[in-house]
Amino acid sequence: MTQLADSGIGDLRTTNEGPVLGPDDPGYDEARLVWNAAIDRHPAVIVRCRSAADVSRAVLFARDHGLEIAVRGGAHSPGGSSVVDDGLMIDLSLLNEVTVDPEAKLARIGGGALLGQLDAATQEYGLATPAGMISHTGVGGLTLGGGMGWLTRKFGLSIDNLESVQIVTADGEIRRASEQENPELFWAIRGGGGNFGVVTEFEFRLHEAGPMIQFGLAFWGLEQGADVLRTAREVVAKLPDEVNIVIGAVNAPPAPFVPAEYHFKPGYALIVTGFGSAEEHAQVMDEIRSALPPAVEFASPMPYVALQQMLDEPNAWGFHAYDKGFYLDEFTDEAIDVITEHVPLKASPGSVVLFYRLDKAFSTVPEDATAFSGSRAPGWAGFIVAVCPTPELLEHDRAWTRSFWDALVPMSRGIGSYVNAISDAGVDDRVRASYGSKYERLAAIKATYDPQNLFHRNANIKPA
Ligand code: FAD
Repeated sequence: MTQLADSGIGDLRTTNEGPVLGPDDPGYDEARLVWNAAIDRHPAVIVRCRSAADVSRAVLFARDHGLEIAVRGGAHSPGGSSVVDDGLMIDLSLLNEVTVDPEAKLARIGGGALLGQLDAATQEYGLATPAGMISHTGVGGLTLGGGMGWLTRKFGLSIDNLESVQIVTADGEIRRASEQENPELFWAIRGGGGNFGVVTEFEFRLHEAGPMIQFGLAFWGLEQGADVLRTAREVVAKLPDEVNIVIGAVNAPPAPFVPAEYHFKPGYALIVTGFGSAEEHAQVMDEIRSALPPAVEFASPMPYVALQQMLDEPNAWGFHAYDKGFYLDEFTDEAIDVITEHVPLKASPGSVVLFYRLDKAFSTVPEDATAFSGSRAPGWAGFIVAVCPTPELLEHDRAWTRSFWDALVPMSRGIGSYVNAISDAGVDDRVRASYGSKYERLAAIKATYDPQNLFHRNANIKPA
């Protein structure tokens, strides 16, 4: 395969507007890196695209030379779907321009932009679109799977705010997809992941958010885990629309507001972000405080962009990682037992369990309006994430993640999950379960736009 690629790389070098890197070229080793240090793969060629035309040529080159394709957005997928041994990596990181139309409240974003670039450009006008919680995540992979974060209760998923895309399909065509143009394709890319082509531009609707938001964090030690989850259950039942909550089984950071005896201690945190009034946010913090006095508490207004970067450092590039996702309807006593039994068994201080609240605006979108992999019923998206400084710790925490997930699945909505939390390859049963009755429609659209399954390094939908 490498020889096949070598024979034509010269052509690609002359036509591609960005650099084309083979294994002997300077910059190759940096360009093949992905967020998860446990992934170490060597593509035959890395094509750094600057335009949709570059992407089109790269797709056709790979197809004609029988090279497996990997598409790299922000390179965050823990399974490393964006890099491939001996294949062709379509690197979108140079396609990162963001233009904002503040009057129309729309933003056009390159397919390889990072969330931080999106936030920086939109916040200049006090605008935002819902995305994820780590600013070095790619807009591409995150959005195509759904995209959930601090603004999900208020404005829905990233895909719920998508107006249109420009996409290069497996035949090399550059198309637009929206409710009016190629509507079936537009439906499929809103949740169907990278299965249908390479998105070179996203167009998002924007909303007023920030520049300042309300932030609150309450933390308790491991021994209070069950009480924290029961408290969260009660708080969520009355949570105002403008307030969001994330529950984390995490280690306390060595932050100035954390007393020294709690630095790095494992426990449970409720992270409460307010996009409405300070009073409303303070009321929620009061309720939490009176239900279960926290060991550590911090509340302050903060810039929206600071919130969006707050978790960047503990999730920096270079950790060895593995993850598994699930959905919970609610924290039943049985689920709480399983969670509190397993949380203390992790080995790495960086490994976490996170629960994102999904309801309100998220739940107003009809089930079949998008291809999102999950129900719109109110509930929790859960993630068990091993984040380890060494391969040895990952070996332990990968097993921890798996046994935790196995024990929790009977209390959850089943083996299906948010597809962006499916990192294992070859788990067709989980992909099918995640899409449920939408799978057949997705498979038919896949057969139209990618009958040879060129784009298969993802939560793969097989062409019908
Ligand atoms: P990549 O590895 O570059 O791509 C992942 C997949 O998407 C690949 O299969 C690739 O082919 C495809 N892809 C990427 N860009 C394009 C494109 N432009 N066109 C076509 N296909 C493309 N998810 C959330 O919803 N909310 C969160 O808060 C959140 N936090 C996260 C935090 C961390 C530390 C990590 C590791 C992941 C997090 N995720 C979150 C999951 C994240 O959404 C997925 O890992 C997503 O795939 C990352 O996208 P990426 O572009 O960075 O990844």
